[in-house]
Amino acid sequence: MFNSLSDRLTATFKNLRGKGRLSEADVDATVREIRRALLDADVAVPVVRAFAAQVKERALGLEVSQALNPGQQVVKIVNEELVGILGGETRRLRLAKNPPTVIMLAGLQGAGKTTLAGKLAKWLKGQGHSPLLVACDLQRPNAVKQLQVNGQRAGVPVFAPHPGVSSEFESATGNPVEVARQGVAEARTRLHDVVIVDTAGRLGIDEELMRQASDIRDAVNPDEVLFVIDAMIGQDAVNTAQAFNEGVNFTGVVLTKLDGDARGGAALSVASVTGKPVMFASTGEALTDFEVFHPDRMASRILD
Ligand code: GDP
Repeated sequence: MFNSLSDRLTATFKNLRGKGRLSEADVDATVREIRRALLDADVAVPVVRAFAAQVKERALGLEVSQALNPGQQVVKIVNEELVGILGGETRRLRLAKNPPTVIMLAGLQGAGKTTLAGKLAKWLKGQGHSPLLVACDLQRPNAVKQLQVNGQRAGVPVFAPHPGVSSEFESATGNPVEVARQGVAEARTRLHDVVIVDTAGRLGIDEELMRQASDIRDAVNPDEVLFVIDAMIGQDAVNTAQAFNEGVNFTGVVLTKLDGDARGGAALSVASVTGKPVMFASTGEALTDFEVFHPDRMASRILD
Protein backbone atom coordinates (compact mmCIF):
# COMPACT_ATOMS: atom_id res chain seq x y z
CA MET A 1 0.00 0.00 0.00
CA PHE A 2 2.78 2.44 0.95
CA ASN A 3 6.24 2.77 -0.53
CA SER A 4 8.75 1.45 1.92
CA LEU A 5 10.67 4.00 3.93
CA SER A 6 13.77 2.92 2.11
CA ASP A 7 12.20 3.80 -1.28
CA ARG A 8 10.93 7.12 0.01
CA LEU A 9 14.30 8.16 1.41
CA THR A 10 16.17 7.06 -1.67
CA ALA A 11 13.90 9.36 -3.69
CA THR A 12 14.38 12.23 -1.23
CA PHE A 13 18.14 11.89 -1.52
CA LYS A 14 18.58 11.14 -5.16
CA ASN A 15 20.55 14.30 -5.89
CA LEU A 16 22.62 14.38 -2.78
CA ARG A 17 25.42 11.99 -3.58
CA GLY A 18 28.80 13.64 -3.17
CA LYS A 19 27.53 16.56 -1.11
CA GLY A 20 29.89 15.85 1.78
CA ARG A 21 27.45 16.54 4.57
CA LEU A 22 23.65 16.65 4.68
CA SER A 23 22.23 20.13 5.22
CA GLU A 24 19.64 20.78 7.90
CA ALA A 25 17.03 21.19 5.13
CA ASP A 26 17.97 17.79 3.67
CA VAL A 27 17.68 16.19 7.08
CA ASP A 28 14.36 17.89 7.79
CA ALA A 29 12.93 16.47 4.57
CA THR A 30 14.15 13.04 5.60
CA VAL A 31 12.78 13.26 9.10
CA ARG A 32 9.40 14.25 7.66
CA GLU A 33 9.39 11.04 5.61
CA ILE A 34 10.38 9.00 8.65
CA ARG A 35 7.62 10.59 10.70
CA ARG A 36 5.06 9.74 8.00
CA ALA A 37 6.28 6.16 7.71
CA LEU A 38 6.05 5.61 11.47
CA LEU A 39 2.57 7.15 11.68
CA ASP A 40 1.51 4.87 8.81
CA ALA A 41 2.80 1.95 10.90
CA ASP A 42 0.57 3.19 13.77
CA VAL A 43 3.32 4.27 16.12
CA ALA A 44 1.94 6.64 18.77
CA VAL A 45 2.42 10.36 18.06
CA PRO A 46 4.62 11.25 21.10
CA VAL A 47 6.83 8.26 20.35
CA VAL A 48 7.18 9.32 16.71
CA ARG A 49 8.15 12.82 17.81
CA ALA A 50 10.89 11.63 20.17
CA PHE A 51 12.16 9.10 17.65
CA ALA A 52 12.34 11.67 14.83
CA ALA A 53 14.34 14.06 17.03
CA GLN A 54 16.85 11.31 17.84
CA VAL A 55 17.26 10.33 14.18
CA LYS A 56 17.64 13.99 13.19
CA GLU A 57 20.54 14.41 15.59
CA ARG A 58 22.35 11.40 14.20
CA ALA A 59 21.59 12.25 10.57
CA LEU A 60 22.98 15.79 10.96
CA GLY A 61 26.34 14.35 11.94
CA LEU A 62 26.38 12.00 8.98
CA GLU A 63 29.20 12.20 6.44
CA VAL A 64 27.73 11.53 3.01
CA SER A 65 29.86 8.82 1.53
CA GLN A 66 30.61 8.54 -2.18
CA ALA A 67 29.88 4.85 -2.08
CA LEU A 68 26.69 4.75 -0.09
CA ASN A 69 23.38 6.29 -0.98
CA PRO A 70 22.53 8.80 1.79
CA GLY A 71 18.98 7.41 1.90
CA GLN A 72 20.37 4.01 2.74
CA GLN A 73 22.65 5.49 5.38
CA VAL A 74 19.69 7.14 7.09
CA VAL A 75 17.59 3.98 6.80
CA LYS A 76 20.42 2.17 8.57
CA ILE A 77 20.30 4.72 11.40
CA VAL A 78 16.50 4.40 11.62
CA ASN A 79 16.78 0.63 11.69
CA GLU A 80 19.40 0.68 14.45
CA GLU A 81 17.30 3.06 16.53
CA LEU A 82 14.16 0.92 16.08
CA VAL A 83 15.95 -2.27 17.09
CA GLY A 84 17.43 -0.45 20.09
CA ILE A 85 14.02 0.71 21.33
CA LEU A 86 12.56 -2.75 20.76
CA GLY A 87 15.14 -4.17 23.16
CA GLY A 88 18.05 -5.04 20.88
CA GLU A 89 18.52 -8.74 21.48
CA THR A 90 15.61 -11.16 21.90
CA ARG A 91 14.81 -11.29 25.62
CA ARG A 92 14.45 -14.84 26.91
CA LEU A 93 11.97 -15.96 29.54
CA ARG A 94 13.38 -15.72 33.08
CA LEU A 95 13.11 -19.08 34.82
CA ALA A 96 13.07 -19.32 38.61
CA LYS A 97 16.10 -20.88 40.32
CA ASN A 98 13.69 -22.71 42.58
CA PRO A 99 10.72 -23.90 40.49
CA PRO A 100 7.95 -23.31 39.83
CA THR A 101 8.54 -20.32 37.59
CA VAL A 102 5.42 -18.16 37.85
CA ILE A 103 4.26 -16.27 34.74
CA MET A 104 1.33 -13.90 35.14
CA LEU A 105 -0.62 -12.53 32.17
CA ALA A 106 -2.31 -9.11 32.25
CA GLY A 107 -4.05 -6.93 29.68
CA LEU A 108 -7.36 -5.60 28.44
CA GLN A 109 -10.27 -7.93 27.73
CA GLY A 110 -10.06 -9.26 24.20
CA ALA A 111 -6.30 -8.67 23.97
CA GLY A 112 -5.77 -12.42 23.60
CA LYS A 113 -4.60 -13.43 27.11
CA THR A 114 -6.55 -16.69 27.42
CA THR A 115 -5.54 -17.74 23.92
CA LEU A 116 -1.94 -16.84 24.71
CA ALA A 117 -2.00 -18.84 27.95
CA GLY A 118 -2.69 -22.00 25.90
CA LYS A 119 -0.03 -21.12 23.33
CA LEU A 120 2.61 -20.39 25.94
CA ALA A 121 1.75 -23.62 27.78
CA LYS A 122 2.07 -25.65 24.59
CA TRP A 123 5.34 -23.96 23.65
CA LEU A 124 6.80 -24.55 27.12
CA LYS A 125 5.66 -28.16 27.10
CA GLY A 126 7.41 -28.60 23.75
CA GLN A 127 10.59 -27.34 25.41
CA GLY A 128 10.41 -30.06 28.05
CA HIS A 129 8.65 -28.11 30.80
CA SER A 130 5.64 -29.30 32.75
CA PRO A 131 3.32 -26.26 32.93
CA LEU A 132 0.14 -25.75 34.95
CA LEU A 133 -2.45 -23.21 33.81
CA VAL A 134 -4.32 -21.28 36.51
CA ALA A 135 -7.69 -19.68 35.67
CA CYS A 136 -8.01 -16.39 37.56
CA ASP A 137 -10.20 -14.59 35.02
CA LEU A 138 -13.45 -14.86 36.93
CA GLN A 139 -15.02 -11.76 35.35
CA ARG A 140 -15.78 -12.94 31.85
CA PRO A 141 -18.43 -15.68 32.00
CA ASN A 142 -16.68 -18.05 29.60
CA ALA A 143 -13.05 -17.39 30.44
CA VAL A 144 -12.51 -20.36 32.77
CA LYS A 145 -14.10 -22.76 30.31
CA GLN A 146 -12.11 -21.25 27.43
CA LEU A 147 -8.86 -21.76 29.35
CA GLN A 148 -9.87 -25.33 30.11
CA VAL A 149 -10.50 -25.97 26.42
CA ASN A 150 -7.13 -24.41 25.50
CA GLY A 151 -5.44 -26.44 28.23
CA GLN A 152 -6.98 -29.63 26.91
CA ARG A 153 -5.83 -28.82 23.37
CA ALA A 154 -2.33 -28.07 24.62
CA GLY A 155 -2.30 -31.19 26.78
CA VAL A 156 -1.71 -29.07 29.88
CA PRO A 157 -3.77 -29.30 33.11
CA VAL A 158 -5.80 -26.33 34.33
CA PHE A 159 -6.30 -25.29 37.95
CA ALA A 160 -9.76 -23.71 38.03
CA PRO A 161 -12.26 -22.43 40.59
CA HIS A 162 -15.23 -24.24 39.05
CA PRO A 163 -15.86 -27.72 37.73
CA GLY A 164 -15.21 -27.89 34.01
CA VAL A 165 -14.36 -29.98 30.99
CA SER A 166 -10.70 -30.68 31.54
CA SER A 167 -9.91 -29.44 35.01
CA GLU A 168 -7.95 -31.87 37.10
CA PHE A 169 -8.05 -29.52 40.05
CA GLU A 170 -10.84 -27.49 41.53
CA SER A 171 -10.30 -24.73 43.98
CA ALA A 172 -12.80 -24.08 46.73
CA THR A 173 -13.09 -20.36 46.21
CA GLY A 174 -14.15 -17.82 43.59
CA ASN A 175 -11.68 -15.19 44.75
CA PRO A 176 -9.09 -14.71 41.97
CA VAL A 177 -6.24 -13.85 44.36
CA GLU A 178 -6.93 -17.01 46.36
CA VAL A 179 -7.21 -19.10 43.17
CA ALA A 180 -3.79 -17.79 42.06
CA ARG A 181 -2.22 -18.58 45.43
CA GLN A 182 -3.73 -22.08 45.54
CA GLY A 183 -2.75 -22.72 41.92
CA VAL A 184 0.89 -21.99 42.63
CA ALA A 185 0.79 -24.16 45.78
CA GLU A 186 -0.76 -26.98 43.75
CA ALA A 187 1.99 -26.67 41.12
CA ARG A 188 4.62 -26.98 43.83
CA THR A 189 2.93 -30.09 45.26
CA ARG A 190 2.50 -31.73 41.87
CA LEU A 191 5.97 -30.78 40.65
CA HIS A 192 4.93 -28.54 37.77
CA ASP A 193 7.95 -26.35 37.00
CA VAL A 194 6.03 -23.48 35.35
CA VAL A 195 2.72 -21.87 36.35
CA ILE A 196 0.85 -19.60 33.94
CA VAL A 197 -1.70 -17.39 35.68
CA ASP A 198 -4.44 -15.99 33.42
CA THR A 199 -6.06 -12.86 34.90
CA ALA A 200 -9.20 -10.85 34.17
CA GLY A 201 -9.28 -7.96 31.73
CA ARG A 202 -11.75 -5.13 31.23
CA LEU A 203 -12.81 -3.34 28.08
CA GLY A 204 -11.13 -0.23 29.44
CA ILE A 205 -8.63 0.38 32.19
CA ASP A 206 -10.25 0.67 35.60
CA GLU A 207 -9.02 0.85 39.16
CA GLU A 208 -10.66 -2.33 40.31
CA LEU A 209 -9.02 -4.33 37.53
CA MET A 210 -5.63 -2.88 38.37
CA ARG A 211 -6.08 -3.51 42.09
CA GLN A 212 -7.03 -7.13 41.44
CA ALA A 213 -4.09 -7.68 39.08
CA SER A 214 -1.74 -6.01 41.52
CA ASP A 215 -3.11 -8.13 44.42
CA ILE A 216 -2.52 -11.29 42.38
CA ARG A 217 1.01 -10.08 41.65
CA ASP A 218 1.67 -9.52 45.35
CA ALA A 219 0.17 -12.91 46.26
CA VAL A 220 2.19 -15.07 43.85
CA ASN A 221 5.33 -12.97 43.32
CA PRO A 222 5.73 -13.87 39.61
CA ASP A 223 9.08 -14.25 37.85
CA GLU A 224 7.51 -12.68 34.76
CA VAL A 225 4.45 -10.46 34.36
CA LEU A 226 3.57 -10.40 30.67
CA PHE A 227 1.48 -7.52 29.39
CA VAL A 228 -0.61 -8.81 26.48
CA ILE A 229 -1.58 -6.18 23.92
CA ASP A 230 -3.47 -6.30 20.63
CA ALA A 231 -1.21 -4.99 17.83
CA MET A 232 -4.26 -3.38 16.21
CA ILE A 233 -4.74 -1.02 19.18
CA GLY A 234 -2.69 1.67 17.40
CA GLN A 235 -2.65 5.09 19.06
CA ASP A 236 -4.20 3.78 22.32
CA ALA A 237 -1.15 1.60 22.96
CA VAL A 238 0.68 4.27 24.94
CA ASN A 239 -2.06 5.00 27.50
CA THR A 240 -2.90 1.34 27.98
CA ALA A 241 0.74 0.33 28.40
CA GLN A 242 1.44 3.16 30.83
CA ALA A 243 -1.57 2.24 32.96
CA PHE A 244 -0.58 -1.43 33.14
CA ASN A 245 3.06 -0.56 33.76
CA GLU A 246 2.06 1.56 36.75
CA GLY A 247 -0.54 -0.97 37.92
CA VAL A 248 1.41 -4.24 37.70
CA ASN A 249 4.96 -3.19 36.73
CA PHE A 250 5.10 -5.81 33.97
CA THR A 251 8.42 -7.38 32.96
CA GLY A 252 7.71 -8.07 29.30
CA VAL A 253 5.23 -7.54 26.47
CA VAL A 254 3.38 -9.97 24.22
CA LEU A 255 2.00 -8.55 20.99
CA THR A 256 -1.06 -10.36 19.64
CA LYS A 257 -2.98 -10.38 16.35
CA LEU A 258 0.12 -9.72 14.29
CA ASP A 259 -1.53 -11.80 11.56
CA GLY A 260 -3.81 -8.81 10.92
CA ASP A 261 -3.06 -5.58 9.08
CA ALA A 262 -1.13 -4.00 11.95
CA ARG A 263 2.43 -3.08 10.98
CA GLY A 264 3.63 -3.35 14.53
CA GLY A 265 3.67 0.28 15.59
CA ALA A 266 2.18 -0.76 18.95
CA ALA A 267 5.36 -2.72 19.69
CA LEU A 268 7.44 0.39 19.27
CA SER A 269 5.04 2.58 21.26
CA VAL A 270 4.91 0.19 24.21
CA ALA A 271 8.63 -0.54 24.27
CA SER A 272 9.45 3.14 23.95
CA VAL A 273 7.20 4.48 26.73
CA THR A 274 7.79 1.66 29.22
CA GLY A 275 11.33 0.56 28.39
CA LYS A 276 10.10 -3.05 28.67
CA PRO A 277 11.02 -5.64 26.04
CA VAL A 278 8.57 -7.31 23.66
CA MET A 279 9.16 -11.03 24.22
CA PHE A 280 6.57 -12.97 22.23
CA ALA A 281 4.20 -12.49 19.32
CA SER A 282 0.85 -14.14 18.65
CA THR A 283 -0.01 -14.50 14.98
CA GLY A 284 -3.38 -16.27 14.77
CA GLU A 285 -6.08 -18.17 16.58
CA ALA A 286 -4.46 -21.63 16.47
CA LEU A 287 -2.33 -22.76 19.43
CA THR A 288 0.75 -22.98 17.25
CA ASP A 289 0.45 -19.37 16.00
CA PHE A 290 3.04 -18.19 18.47
CA GLU A 291 6.59 -16.89 18.07
CA VAL A 292 9.50 -15.63 20.07
CA PHE A 293 9.76 -11.93 19.22
CA HIS A 294 12.77 -10.70 17.25
CA PRO A 295 13.37 -6.91 17.38
CA ASP A 296 15.23 -6.84 14.04
CA ARG A 297 12.39 -8.56 12.19
CA MET A 298 9.84 -6.16 13.68
CA ALA A 299 11.99 -3.18 12.70
CA SER A 300 11.86 -4.39 9.09
CA ARG A 301 8.10 -4.86 9.29
CA ILE A 302 7.63 -1.32 10.60
CA LEU A 303 9.80 0.12 7.82
CA ASP A 304 8.44 -1.94 4.92
P1 GDP B 1 -8.72 -12.25 26.51
O1 GDP B 1 -10.02 -11.59 26.80
O2 GDP B 1 -7.56 -11.30 26.63
O3 GDP B 1 -8.48 -13.52 27.26
O4 GDP B 1 -8.75 -12.60 24.93
P2 GDP B 1 -9.00 -13.99 24.19
O5 GDP B 1 -7.83 -14.90 24.36
O6 GDP B 1 -10.33 -14.51 24.57
O7 GDP B 1 -9.00 -13.51 22.67
C1 GDP B 1 -9.99 -12.65 22.15
C2 GDP B 1 -10.27 -13.02 20.69
O8 GDP B 1 -9.12 -12.78 19.90
C3 GDP B 1 -10.59 -14.49 20.50
O9 GDP B 1 -11.60 -14.59 19.52
C4 GDP B 1 -9.29 -15.10 20.00
O10 GDP B 1 -9.50 -16.24 19.17
C5 GDP B 1 -8.73 -13.96 19.20
N1 GDP B 1 -7.25 -13.97 19.14
C6 GDP B 1 -6.36 -14.09 20.15
N2 GDP B 1 -5.10 -14.02 19.70
C7 GDP B 1 -5.17 -13.83 18.35
C8 GDP B 1 -4.19 -13.65 17.31
O11 GDP B 1 -2.97 -13.64 17.51
N3 GDP B 1 -4.68 -13.47 16.05
C9 GDP B 1 -6.02 -13.47 15.78
N4 GDP B 1 -6.40 -13.29 14.53
N5 GDP B 1 -6.95 -13.61 16.73
C10 GDP B 1 -6.55 -13.80 18.00
